Amino acid sequence: MKATDVVESEIITLVKQSEERCPICRVVDKAVSGWLDGALSDLLHNEEARAKLNNGGLCRKHSEVFVEVVKSNSSIGPLSASIMLSEILRNQLIAIKAKEKRSRLERLRAPGKKTEGCYLCRIALETEYRFVNGFRVFFSRPEVKHSYERSETIICFDHTTQLLERPTDVSEWFVSVQRSKISALLDEMDLLINKHDYRSKESIGKESSSWVRAIQTIGELSRH
Ligand SMILES: [Zn+2]
Ligand SMILES: [Zn+2]
Repeated sequence: MKATDVVESEIITLVKQSEERCPICRVVDKAVSGWLDGALSDLLHNEEARAKLNNGGLCRKHSEVFVEVVKSNSSIGPLSASIMLSEILRNQLIAIKAKEKRSRLERLRAPGKKTEGCYLCRIALETEYRFVNGFRVFFSRPEVKHSYERSETIICFDHTTQLLERPTDVSEWFVSVQRSKISALLDEMDLLINKHDYRSKESIGKESSSWVRAIQTIGELSRH
């Protein structure tokens, strides 16, 4: 089986799931938590994963993911978490000391040990890249296209802009689907806003969660 076949079948599954959150965001989160779960479940026999985490430390976002993974898997427990975190913390103490030494001896600045930062960010970026490309390619297949049109899922702003960075034959179709999905969401929010009017007697339905779907879709506008 070719690598592209794997991505294609994963894309079809992602789009068919009834989850509303962006399929690329979901697959990225799953890749990160899955890797971390595997690493922490077999920590003592997993020197390589330990070294990777220890080497770059954890960014804020993935520190939170670390907590979630430990809490959601009862077989990991505080022992593995503490072993891993004390290694990281010990390493960071060395980094703090090195920093202090360097600032005292400004002129003798020795180049610090190079690190590529949070390893989980790297997993996230690689997965994101693979799936943005995957969607770009497989949206040309009618089955994937129709599946996305019919599903409740909305590709978020960030991944929409990444998909559109390189125009393809389906860019126009993609923009029009995004427009109708986002307009439908806006209609639901209008309904929610109107029903909150004190004169409204209508009960609130599915639109009650529209603001959550909106926050999952919104991204940051580029400053450039
Ligand atoms: Zn996304
Ligand atoms: Zn990170």
